[in-house]
This record gives sequence, structure tokens and C-alpha cells, in this order.
Amino acid sequence: MDDTVQRDGQRADAVLAAVDPAMAQILADERRRQTEQINLIASENTVSAAVLRASGSIFTNKYAEGYPGRRYYAGCEHVDRAERLAQQRARELFPGAEHVNVQPHSGSQANQAVQLAVLEPGDTILSMDLSQGGHLSHGHRLNLAGKLYRIVSYGVDRETERLDYDAIAEIARRCRPKLIIAGASAYSRVIDFAAFARIAEEVGALLLADIAHIAGLVATGLHPSPLPHADFVTTTTHKTLRGPRGGMILCREKFAKAIDRAVMPGLQGGPLCHQIAARAVAFREALTESFARYQRRIVETAAALAAALDRHGFRIVSGGTDNHLFLLDLRPRGLTGKVAEAALERAGIICNKNLIPYDPETPFVTSGIRIGTPTVASRGMDVDDMQRIADWIATVLEAPEDTERAERVRAEVARFAAAHPIAESYLEEAPVS
Ligand code: PLP
Repeated sequence: MDDTVQRDGQRADAVLAAVDPAMAQILADERRRQTEQINLIASENTVSAAVLRASGSIFTNKYAEGYPGRRYYAGCEHVDRAERLAQQRARELFPGAEHVNVQPHSGSQANQAVQLAVLEPGDTILSMDLSQGGHLSHGHRLNLAGKLYRIVSYGVDRETERLDYDAIAEIARRCRPKLIIAGASAYSRVIDFAAFARIAEEVGALLLADIAHIAGLVATGLHPSPLPHADFVTTTTHKTLRGPRGGMILCREKFAKAIDRAVMPGLQGGPLCHQIAARAVAFREALTESFARYQRRIVETAAALAAALDRHGFRIVSGGTDNHLFLLDLRPRGLTGKVAEAALERAGIICNKNLIPYDPETPFVTSGIRIGTPTVASRGMDVDDMQRIADWIATVLEAPEDTERAERVRAEVARFAAAHPIAESYLEEAPVS
């Protein structure tokens, strides 16, 4: 790491410690936690020092309601440059995007903006059931989408645990949705966006592809892009894309105005300028060959970890993974996701309980855990390391109440994690553009 960055960081830490020692301590504890543990949460990642710097930058002081060149506040010339840079890099990352909005505060708000732009209350959305791998913002009954719109759900086939496009088409013919949402939070297989587009076209629906989880894979060609097929593409910027927390919308030019209006003033006021700057930095990092190699490592480590757990006798939902994540069905072990998550956490291995398809348990208990490799791959853990992680998971879940065993594993995990520090920079070579 560059000396100046380190000095700046230390100075900022010292200032925080002087102003608010309590919060400085909390942040120091969180840094230690992230360093000592193995993070298998599929939706998380560890950003570079450059992204962190832009995210914690002076742009946090700025109001900039509106869009570049059309703001409701003065003093926006540099914010405009930052936002244009983010837009331009987003277009390079996702070729074929006719219009880009980098302002949504989150992935949920990106989805809400699309819904607000093209739907009226009471219109029908066809989306993946949350309990089968979908996301709250696609229409959970307690989510705004579930309250405003009529939600019809599709799921995965009971046998294959994969999307069955004929079955989805059949549901679409019956419910005649105005919007179809393709995309998931816990689906380990390739999503056939072309098939979704054919269904949407047949029933006269618009198509939204939510690539929040797989955006990094899509950007590097490891998952087919929805861009030729979907009217709208939404994403978060903080999962496989390895940027700051936030959302983004790509859409066809004919929807540009409606989308921009839906984001602001429809849903938000001032954009988070510091997060937009950090998104631009993350996109620059993502336009490199080293990012493409990183995405390949995510996919390879996920496959290796699933295979190693399979050798330990665990059941992997759908039999494996094509992307960065998979679900373990713990019912054959007589365990719930809740028990497994807690036992693994005691051992320094962090993952989340997750419903599996057709789960008999409630979302607070669940029969499964979701496991993903974006963070471990960011920390340089490789395919060979996955066997060791699988061995620890198996050891802990053989006796989830055995706290001594968890302590033993925790010490080994901490040693291993310390040997794979969170990187300050991911740029092993110059950006390609
Ligand atoms: N869409 C999908 C598929 C997701 O998995 C998520 C988050 O997990 C979101 C949208 C929402 O993102 P956020 O948490 O930023 O609102």
C-alpha cells in the first residue's frame, strides 16, 4: 500500500479516536472480526482502500438533487464529473446499456424505481417467491411492492430445484403480468434471461432482470448478460461487483426519463454523492483483467467448496452451483439453518441461515444455510483452501453444541484468516480502459 494512503488512514483513525473513542473502538473491533473470521455470506465482499476512501470522502458534504447538468443546487460541477464518470464506466462494464442511473441508494430502491416507473397500483408482477430464492423487493407481502401490486410467484421445480421455464410461461399466460422479474438472492444456477424475454414478449409484459448477486459474473462474461433481453436491469454494487453499498439501474433509452423521475423525485431526494464516487472507483477496478481473474476464482472456489461439502455427505440444493453461491440442505443431518449458523459463528465461520425450496421451516429457523465465496476469493483463498474450509464446517456441524470443538476450530480459522489479510488494493495491473 502507498505510504500516503496509510498515513492518511492512520490520521483519520486518530481523529476519530479523539472525537469519539466509543465508535473508534466499535470500528476497530469490527475490523478485527472481519480479519479473523472466514466470511461465506454470498452477498458481502471486502472493498479496496480506494473504494473505501472515496466512500468516506468529502462528497458526503454535498447536496446534488437532480442529474448531471440539471441540478437543483449550485456547486455541483465536481459531483457532475463524478456521476458522469460512474455512468460512463457502468456502460463500459455492461455493454448494451442504453441508459444508466447510478443514484439508487440500494438494490431495493432500484427495484422500486422500476416498479414506480412502469406500474400502477394493482398491476400484476410475476416474480420469484422469496421462499424459493427471490428477494423481498420483488413482492414480499410486507414489502412496499407486495402492498402496492398484485404479486404472482414462480418457484423452482421440486425435483431439479431449477427454474422450469415452461412452468413459468404457463403461470405468465394465466396471470398476464405487466412486469416479470427475473433474478434471485439464493439461486445457484444460470438464469436464462433469453427464455424470460420470450415469455415476457408472449404475454406482453416488461422484463426486469435483477442481477444484484451476479453482477460481477455478468460484467466479466461468466454469466450470460440480460442486456440484450431485458427492458430494465437492476443491481446492487456491493456484492460480486465489490463496490460500495448501493444500487444501479440500466435500461432502454425509451424508459430513461421515467426511470430518472422515479428515482428522483419519485423515491429519493439528494443522491449519496460519496457513494456514487466510490461506485465509479469500483467500476474502474472491475474493468481490469485482474477483476476478471477474481470472478473466475469466485466461481471456481464456490464449485470446489460445494464439491468438498458433498464429499462430506452434505446435500447441495440442485446438486451444485454455476455461480458464486449454493445452499446446503441440513434436513438429512437433523439440523436447522438457525442452529448451523450459530454453531459456525462460534467457530469464526460466518454464513446465513436460508430457506431452501419447499422449506417446511419458518424464515427465522430454516432448513438450510447459504454459502458464497466472493469474500474468501477477495482474500486470495483458492480452490485448495476450500477443502480445509469444508473440513471445518463438517467438524462443527457434526457436533453443533460442542463449544470446545468450536473454540478449537475458531483458533485454526483465525490463524488461517490472518494469513489471508483483507487486501488494500486489487489492481495487479493497469485498468484496461
Ligand atoms: N435484489 C436482490 C436479488 C438481492 O439479493 C438484494 C439484496 O440482497 C437486493 C435486490 C436488495 O439490495 P439492498 O439490500 O441493497 O436493498
